[in-house]
Amino acid sequence: MQKPYIGQIVHYQSYGTPGGEYPSVCRAAIVAAVDEYQPPVGDTWFGHVNLVVLNPEGMFFNRGVLQDQHECRGGTWHMVHP
Ligand SMILES: [Zn+2]
Repeated sequence: MQKPYIGQIVHYQSYGTPGGEYPSVCRAAIVAAVDEYQPPVGDTWFGHVNLVVLNPEGMFFNRGVLQDQHECRGGTWHMVHP
């Protein structure tokens, strides 16, 4: 797995509502910082990243975000895909 780097654009997976009124979607996010305290798990990056998330409604800052490259659960980040 490629190491995330500061300034990289990744995807942040938004939380959807339980009833599905709002689906969980990908948002563009900029990597502001990278922690490396945890060993890799499979092909998933170790540690957390701190993100600046770009929503259509505005930006927010999120610390200690875990990668979830395959299931893309809400509140995680993953590498950009087409
Ligand atoms: Zn995505």
